[in-house]
Amino acid sequence: MFKKILIANRGEIALRVIRAAREMGIASVAVHSTADSDAMHVRMADESVCIGPPSSQQSYLSIPAIVAACEITGAEAIHPGYGFLSENAGFVQILEDHGLTFIGPTAEHIRIMGDKITAKDTMKALGVPCVPGSDGGVATLDDAKRIGEEIGYPVIIKATAGGGGKGMKVAQTAKDMERAYQTARAEGKSNFGNDEVYIEKYLTTPRHIEIQVFGDGKGRAVHLGERDCSLQRRHQKVFEEAPGPSITAEERARIGKVCADAVANINYIGAGTIEFLYENGEFYFIEMNTRLQVEHPVTEAIFGVDLVREQIRVAEGLPMSFTQDDLTINGHAIEVRINAEKLPNFAPCPGKITQYHAPGGLGVRMDSALYDGYKIPPYYDSLIGKLIVHGRDRPEAIARLNRALGELIVDGVDTTVPLFHALLQEEDIHSGNYNIHWLEHWLETNLGDA
Ligand code: ADP
Repeated sequence: MFKKILIANRGEIALRVIRAAREMGIASVAVHSTADSDAMHVRMADESVCIGPPSSQQSYLSIPAIVAACEITGAEAIHPGYGFLSENAGFVQILEDHGLTFIGPTAEHIRIMGDKITAKDTMKALGVPCVPGSDGGVATLDDAKRIGEEIGYPVIIKATAGGGGKGMKVAQTAKDMERAYQTARAEGKSNFGNDEVYIEKYLTTPRHIEIQVFGDGKGRAVHLGERDCSLQRRHQKVFEEAPGPSITAEERARIGKVCADAVANINYIGAGTIEFLYENGEFYFIEMNTRLQVEHPVTEAIFGVDLVREQIRVAEGLPMSFTQDDLTINGHAIEVRINAEKLPNFAPCPGKITQYHAPGGLGVRMDSALYDGYKIPPYYDSLIGKLIVHGRDRPEAIARLNRALGELIVDGVDTTVPLFHALLQEEDIHSGNYNIHWLEHWLETNLGDA
């Protein structure tokens, strides 16, 4: 059993890992930038180490500083959370070379899935259904135009190294191809240092459905059903739920088995998410995330498992504590992402929290690093909390979300809470009738957000 682990992250996800570690009797080390000296993760951890100035590049992304913090504190393993170094294969390689354990998949698996073309080829070979498109990279504009004609417009051009919605451009018709192709390449180059792009059929009304998988690294793997994360703004999720309102038990069992078998086949270790677009009863693979997702708590709620505890267990070489047969769905869960952002344009809104009160009661979980008087620094992501509700069924979860949002108090900064109050007035949200474009249309119509 590990005695001490280091968490290479901040905010709510750092607390999430510290909590799991504490329940397992494992001591925790927080790392922080000078801007985060008073942050909750620093207060809550057993020990903390300052690893650099505010800029993420020089602190949360500084591999030498994090490895040194491990050496100073004697931490044996590192949990990366999400974002920052969580999908950095080079980092994992360095930890392996230093005899430190990465709580997550191998460098090789991160590398394979981090390159979208390689990921798609790998998944295709493993029998996972993919979006029709170019086989591999598209080297010239002429090739792009030819492939566009072959697949049929609209198409989407994606940077193979892309992420977070960057490096993706839609061409509605052949006329758009040149601009879309060049912009996707340029964004790939400037954001990820790689201008290789590929082309996919652009699905017009899909839902975003992702399957949670978990492997022990020794050829055993399970799936924990799906999450529907279709409510997105600029390809960023804002509202997630499990199970998906449009997915039947048969579909779940079928696609879940395909995903679990695929990751078992490659001896995948730890938590992973296989993302699909879902349209007319068909699943189309888009990418795999080799880490814990922001929205993992909705899965935890309906299956009654602790995914972080499980990640720590398998990283130590222990078996998973459940089998596929142990995993049954209980009720319905919804998560909303609360960001310090000002509507209608979602401008980041850092500043001092003058009053904070978290909602509570049956079926309510608030994952947040806020406290009264906390100053949200301007240097990092604007996510300040995740409100997760669990009910016996979807209507109960929605009623609970409404009730919990009413109890939540975050004063001093603007937040996205009013967005959720407004969404809960919408019939489509109550009926679960939405796809990946629904929210952007709604924002345009109701807030004038373009
Ligand atoms: P990222 O790595 O930037 O998150 P993804 O490949 O996961 O990119 O895609 C993010 C989102 O972009 C999806 O959830 C969906 O909304 C949209 N998208 C991606 N591929 C397609 C496609 N082929 N057709 C329609 N929408 C797509």
